[in-house]
Amino acid sequence: MKKSKLRLSFPEDEKLHIWLPLLLNAYSIMDEGVKKDIEELEKKGRKLACRKGCSNCCEAHRDIPVYPIEIVGIYWYVMEKVKEPIRSDIKLSLIKHKKGDPCPFLINKACSIYPMRPLACRQFNVFGQSCNHGEDAYYTRPQDVLKPSKNYLGKALYETTPFYNVFDEEEKIEFINSGKLNSLVKILQNYPWIELARRMG
Ligand code: SF4
Ligand code: SF4
Repeated sequence: MKKSKLRLSFPEDEKLHIWLPLLLNAYSIMDEGVKKDIEELEKKGRKLACRKGCSNCCEAHRDIPVYPIEIVGIYWYVMEKVKEPIRSDIKLSLIKHKKGDPCPFLINKACSIYPMRPLACRQFNVFGQSCNHGEDAYYTRPQDVLKPSKNYLGKALYETTPFYNVFDEEEKIEFINSGKLNSLVKILQNYPWIELARRMG
């Protein structure tokens, strides 16, 4: 796979964790696809509303899908990469988190796991006006939500299939298209993150 400029790189960690390059490749495929689509829409005069510090979506969404490899990525990132004082803030947030609450990784109105945010978060982009407090633009104004021009989610997921012990090219496609991979999806807001808090010591 050709390396994208957007691909995150953790050379030492990638040698240690064989799943990590798969996940970083998947994220770069998604990020490249989203970037191209945004650029195309901006050429047509649409204005991206998403910007740093805007986080109403993270509070409003209650059903963000997260794949098993992404959960492993979040565990790794929080345990090994996040520094104080954010680390303690995350731990407290995870301890307080109840099923169905907003995403526990939103700390001080910013994503505390930004490099490891799930594919769904990476793909969700809104044009026009910023989302109001409590608004989920997916439902209120779907015409303003980025619709992928290509199946880069599928390509990103394809990249992760060895994590699930699927190596054969045809089996990879079947694993995705049959819904087997999707059957493993968890909901970020409902996941028992307390276990991560415990491991943080
Ligand atoms: S999706 Fe909405 S709330 Fe989230 S960053 Fe974009 S404009 Fe802001
Ligand atoms: S993981 Fe980050 S971007 Fe996604 S909902 Fe949580 S705080 Fe927002």
